[in-house]
Amino acid sequence: MNRIKEINPRDFVAVVEPGVITAKLQGAAEKRGLYYPPDPASRADCSLGGNIATNAGGPRCLKYGVTRDYVLGLQVALADGRLVRLGSRCHKNKTGFDLHRMFVGSEGLLGIVTEATLKLLPLPPYRALIGVGFDSTRGAARSLAAIFKAGFLPCALEIADEFTLAAAYKRTKSEQLAGCRAMLFVELDGQEQSVRAELTEVERLVTAQRPVFINRAFGGAAVESLWGLRREFSYSLRDTGLTKLNEDVTVPRGRLEELFRFAARLQKQHGLPVACFGHAGDGNIHVNVMVDYAQPGNRARADAALDDLFKQILAWGGVITGEHGIGLAKKPWWPLAANEDVRQLHRAVKRALDPHGILNPGKFV
Ligand SMILES: Cc1cc2nc3c(=O)[nH]c(=O)nc-3n(C[C@H](O)[C@H](O)[C@H](O)COP(=O)(O)OP(=O)(O)OC[C@H]3O[C@@H](n4cnc5c(N)ncnc54)[C@H](O)[C@@H]3O)c2cc1C
Repeated sequence: MNRIKEINPRDFVAVVEPGVITAKLQGAAEKRGLYYPPDPASRADCSLGGNIATNAGGPRCLKYGVTRDYVLGLQVALADGRLVRLGSRCHKNKTGFDLHRMFVGSEGLLGIVTEATLKLLPLPPYRALIGVGFDSTRGAARSLAAIFKAGFLPCALEIADEFTLAAAYKRTKSEQLAGCRAMLFVELDGQEQSVRAELTEVERLVTAQRPVFINRAFGGAAVESLWGLRREFSYSLRDTGLTKLNEDVTVPRGRLEELFRFAARLQKQHGLPVACFGHAGDGNIHVNVMVDYAQPGNRARADAALDDLFKQILAWGGVITGEHGIGLAKKPWWPLAANEDVRQLHRAVKRALDPHGILNPGKFV
């Protein structure tokens, strides 16, 4: 089920089957001057059905919102075999409950998405991106706060720490990563004149935090090439040969600096490398606990490190998953993350739609 059935520039919608690869829809929409913003770093490999089931996010979600914000309508196969159409192709709809959105992020536990009607936007005509190197994550986090304080809402604001950058350098040998311990990516989009003017001001704010370098990319092709580097981060950590426990915690934005300090402490306390990068503008950071399972005691160490991480995140009012969902990997922490009333509501919805538990059995509900 991998067909794009329709891209409609008058209605600003796309109708797709769930197996369409995310980047394929984006490319097809852009050819028509249209824009589908949700951009998980896995977009060349992942499907829109998977994106809907996990409510996937990505760098651009800072300005444009996550997958949920683009799902106007769904066709869903229910556990009892009925095919239902929910939502519509309208950009606003208040007919009954927001049932189609209940399936977004439901991790395949409530029904199988067989078709989706997605909202498209006009394609911003111009983009620019800076990759700013710092000698610590503090400079990067402070730049981020200064950018928001000055009233900018960039399209994307991404951060990476020293371990991630070292692994990425080893994989890519890119000179654009050399000589820094933290990096901040800031993308602006819109009309060319305003993007260029705003970027000058953003650079002024960033320069106040004494960066080691600023790499600039103007125009779609150059921007994509610099983003290409960012998309390598996850794969670079895999290259280390260690098992990457990729957590996708999210903290209230004001806790970002504390999160990086905490991750550094976690590393020392448990004797395991911790690599952090991700969607800093959203407070959504991939905290990757890197484990060599061949070493005795490392499994228990990794579990203890994750336990400490999740407890701290929750104590700050954060959430243990901002993108990937609970699934199986975070199932042990589900009771910590959701109280009994909330879990009971989940069970009631699941029972109503899938009384025999045939959809993704064994997952967190
Ligand atoms: C390198 C890398 C980078 C990543 N970066 C990001 C990122 O930036 N942001 C982000 O949010 N995630 C990211 N991810 C996680 C992942 O790519 C996303 O969660 C993506 O949305 C999963 O899509 P998929 O097609 O791979 O789904 P799968 O992994 O195949 O499935 C995911 C879940 O969705 C369910 N599902 C799939 N199709 C349907 C359907 N049609 N109906 C109902 N349920 C369905 C499956 O049962 C499963 O529970 C990344 C992953 C990798 C490997």
